[in-house]
Amino acid sequence: MSATLIDGKARAAALRAEVATGVAAFVAAHGRQPGLTVVLVGDDPASAVYVGSKGKATREAGMISGEHRLPASTSEADLLALVTRLNRDPEVDGILVQMPLPAHIDSDRVIAVIDPAKDVDGLHPINTGLLVSGRPGLVPCTPSGCLMLIEDAIGTIAGAEAVVIGRSILVGKPMAALLLNKSATVTIAHSRTRDLAAHVTRADIVVAAVGIPGMVQGEWIKPGACVIDVGINRIALPDGKSRLVGDVDFDSAVTRAGWITPVPGGVGPMTIACLLANTLSAATARAAT
Ligand code: NAD
Repeated sequence: MSATLIDGKARAAALRAEVATGVAAFVAAHGRQPGLTVVLVGDDPASAVYVGSKGKATREAGMISGEHRLPASTSEADLLALVTRLNRDPEVDGILVQMPLPAHIDSDRVIAVIDPAKDVDGLHPINTGLLVSGRPGLVPCTPSGCLMLIEDAIGTIAGAEAVVIGRSILVGKPMAALLLNKSATVTIAHSRTRDLAAHVTRADIVVAAVGIPGMVQGEWIKPGACVIDVGINRIALPDGKSRLVGDVDFDSAVTRAGWITPVPGGVGPMTIACLLANTLSAATARAAT
């Protein structure tokens, strides 16, 4: 048996097209484009690439892309002042402060200052609380994208056994809350979990968000399960080149799973598409107030 590959690229393209249609309707109704502003502090090359692709995707969806690239020496007070200005700017519907921030800045404090109505990363404690309460709010983009892929693949989530590996506030915890809100029976596994294989073996849905290349073994996977690999790990090859792999040992898992996301081309493309969707939702909600 070989699993059906989940095409995150195609699903993300469809979602981006849906957002672009929604943006056109928003412009017709409100006479302005929704705006997403990204703040990057420091010169981490990977973060600079992410910020560049977010800007491009934002413009392609018909929205206004704002960017603030600040030096690594920026003080926490200056960053908080910028976020406060963006909170007050009526043209800005979404604010994203690219993580990680330099060590001298307290990222929790920065996230807490973002207006929850503009918090398109879904990390503000108000949005976290709304998610856990099962109420509408802005949801972190990566788990939101994973949920869409799972629903497309298996249809009904209610009653399914789900195992989420990883408990970060960015992926694991919101993923578990989303699955619980859909009435799955959810286990969260993490670095202190005793017998990971025993948990994974029960799961109809496995979401791996760890950051360890190929740690989830194919033989742990329940035949027919839906396997979502969030991990993005760059590994060195003997010829001096490198390639991206996930947290799941793809070659062994593909022989047992019912559905599986490839890395790259699975979860990754969904993240930016969900960011655009969050920005349009934020703009629509703000326009209604
Ligand atoms: P993180 O480092 O914040 O969290 C990793 C989690 O893995 C922790 O909760 C930890 O408890 C758990 N863990 C560590 N070792 C473990 C073990 N041996 N067994 C079980 N659990 C273990 O990472 P994160 O931000 O949640 O990201 C996880 C992975 O997902 C990374 O590879 C990251 O690059 C990737 N990621 C991808 C996207 C995307 O768009 N596709 C977005 C965010 C993160």
